[in-house]
Amino acid sequence: MQYRQLVDFHIHTDNSCDGHDSLTYMCEQAAARGIRALAVTDHAECQRYFTDSFHTAIRYSFFETLKARSAFMGQIAVMTGMELGQPLHDLKAADDALHANSLDFIIASLHCLRGQPDFWQLDYSALDPDRLLSDYFAEVYDTVCWGQFDSLGHLTYPLRYMVGRAHLPVELSRHADEIDEILKRLVADGKALELNTQGYRTEYGRPTPDLPLLRRFRELGGEYVTIGSDAHYAADVGANIADGLALLQEAGFSFVTLYDRREPVPVVIR
Ligand SMILES: [Zn+2]
Ligand SMILES: [Zn+2]
Repeated sequence: MQYRQLVDFHIHTDNSCDGHDSLTYMCEQAAARGIRALAVTDHAECQRYFTDSFHTAIRYSFFETLKARSAFMGQIAVMTGMELGQPLHDLKAADDALHANSLDFIIASLHCLRGQPDFWQLDYSALDPDRLLSDYFAEVYDTVCWGQFDSLGHLTYPLRYMVGRAHLPVELSRHADEIDEILKRLVADGKALELNTQGYRTEYGRPTPDLPLLRRFRELGGEYVTIGSDAHYAADVGANIADGLALLQEAGFSFVTLYDRREPVPVVIR
């Protein structure tokens, strides 16, 4: 199965507020696991970008990535990237983050609704899950329309906590139209959908998004999918990538996509 574990396009180093290990250590672990391409996607959380010094952190991250690229040349292709969280919550922050460095790959994510804490911090006991999901999908749709990214990160992210931790009954079919609008817009704009494998390692036990949404993206003409472990520890680099690639094949994808200087590069899944 090792041949499947060749790419991981979503990892966080200690240049992310919630990352724990140095990029050098993460690259060593990645090389030992046979990973051939890695994108470093440290956080830029736009709603607290300047107050929490993300504008400095992403610049450190970029330089560390260039050093690692050089140090691991011939072993791993180390690509420069960023996970841009909530760009619409502060467009000035998003603009700074987008122009700070010359990146290979940008993930756009939504970790919280406007003015609210991250979905992992919410108390779900007093919340209406359908209302929350509708608000989430609406904000994701607006982010996709904004469009300054390559891949949409972990679509259905709130489910990790709503279902995985709070055990709320969630019926995604009630949101099929909202999800379709997002997927159609990604297809129309030639953007990628990310398969994020972190959910496998949580109580939720599934990736975000899961098979039905991956299938739907394919049905609607989706071509580009990226894959990432969302590792915040070296021990998790490449985790469940093999499971994710198998799922992508099941959904009808024959290749996964890497990004080099913001251009899609197909890699056949074998
Ligand atoms: Zn994220
Ligand atoms: Zn992440």
